[in-house]
Amino acid sequence: MTDVEKRSDRSPVPQDWTYAPAPESTEIVELRERYGLYVGGEWLDAKERYTTLSPRDESPLAEVAQASEADVRNAVAAAHDAFGTWSTIAGSERSKYLFRIARILAERAREFAVLESLNGGKPIKESRDVDVPLAAAHFFYYAGWADKLEYAFPNRTPKALGVAGQIIPWNFPLLMLAWKIAPALAAGNTVVLKPAETTPLTALLFCDVLRQAELPAGVVNIITGDGSTGAALVDSEVDKIAFTGSTEVGKAIQRRLAGTDKRLTLELGGKAANIVFDDCALDQAVEGIINGIYFNQGHVCCAGSRLFVQESIYEPLVEKLKKRMATLRVGDPLDKNTDVGAINSREQLDRIEELVAAGKDEGAEMYQAPCRLPERGYWFAPTIFTNVAQSYRIAQEEIFGPVLSVLTFRTPDEAIEKANNTPYGLSAGVWTEKGSRILWMAERLRAGVVWANTFNRFDPASPFGGYKESGFGREGGLHGMEPYLELTA
Ligand code: NAP
Ligand code: MG
Repeated sequence: MTDVEKRSDRSPVPQDWTYAPAPESTEIVELRERYGLYVGGEWLDAKERYTTLSPRDESPLAEVAQASEADVRNAVAAAHDAFGTWSTIAGSERSKYLFRIARILAERAREFAVLESLNGGKPIKESRDVDVPLAAAHFFYYAGWADKLEYAFPNRTPKALGVAGQIIPWNFPLLMLAWKIAPALAAGNTVVLKPAETTPLTALLFCDVLRQAELPAGVVNIITGDGSTGAALVDSEVDKIAFTGSTEVGKAIQRRLAGTDKRLTLELGGKAANIVFDDCALDQAVEGIINGIYFNQGHVCCAGSRLFVQESIYEPLVEKLKKRMATLRVGDPLDKNTDVGAINSREQLDRIEELVAAGKDEGAEMYQAPCRLPERGYWFAPTIFTNVAQSYRIAQEEIFGPVLSVLTFRTPDEAIEKANNTPYGLSAGVWTEKGSRILWMAERLRAGVVWANTFNRFDPASPFGGYKESGFGREGGLHGMEPYLELTA
């Protein structure tokens, strides 16, 4: 509050209600100039490197290693070496390490949140309040299972598989790492993880946490690089691949692994239906729609990217939605008031722009929130399309950006038919006052998660995963342990 009118006979009255900048300091993060590969508890040099940027201004942050095939083999060998001991120590010992990791993550939460926003572009309030606490919560949760496997899977003699190769995307770098590493370790496996090319830094900082927790060498190995490093990991001597990313790459991996005895789980794309009935609490639904599509700039596999509105409330709802969009603050990810941050990469921005152009060409009507975008960096204004037909690309393809397609329906049957008319099936939302209708809808929606009168809620105890081209296997909860265990029938 800068211009405050001070009068002796009254309390101060602010003259301007706009937000003043409130940037989080980056001083807490100490970046190295150059990072190697974290293998067998050591930092190894790589022959090739690339520079990782901040999408908020395209400034270089650090040089990271581009792991070669030989580097990948080396990391997998280190994980095999560590497996013998790690899989046979008492479960309560493994718990201890997982609890330590959780606690250290919580202690260093601010450092991780700042780095996540710097490298990935997401608003600090999200990395601070969602990504980092949820990542710690996953380690806490699976720490609790590590010594109870026989009770979790009674009479099925649970045994660790071996070395898990894990490949993750750039939209939730630390959180996806936690989803992958925590259950794998709790089950007694060792790990080689490859973060996404554009967002390696929190995974590299996590290696420091592993050292602090004194995790035995080789139990977790982190190798950075591009898609070719991921492909080399798929082809290496691992016992299991856990992949989160695009359906296209997921399919390629499935083809590579066909006929081998490597296990596979795939968490792929989505095009979720967020379905709003005319009896819902409208203002609450508007908040859920906004969160559903603009959270993390829409770089969310379970984003509510197709909005289905019951015809009778179409006009008031779209009007409220536009009003609410106008209040979103787009800009510096490190500003605590920012709602929508930077697009993760130039490549992703190009893809969003291409699909938005296709939407306009095909005849949909576009509305963008009035906002001033920063000049440097990668940005896209919150956008909605109305007048969308089901056949349009913007209603079919995953945009993975802050772009919502609005469609309508009249009856619950029609809502189900339209919502399920997609190759994906990761998540869905239903907004209605009637509990019976929620259950009726949830039973018929072909989606792994159905949220009712809320959206984007996550809990480590709750399994998450897809139907159809959204993949197979579940992460979170007890279900998330199964893919890392050999169980007798
Ligand atoms: P992506 O291109 O498939 O990449 C995912 C990961 O795979 C990255 O680490 C990537 O490396 C690596 N990779 C690329 N080509 C590979 C290959 N041939 N073999 C092995 N690994 C390879 O996906 P993305 O663009 O990063 O992420 C966005 C996608 O992830 C969206 O479709 C989204 O829906 C999906 N996603 C799904 C979930 C879920 O839980 N279902 C969660 C988050 C995201 P590079 O980074 O070097 O390309
Ligand atoms: Mg990619």
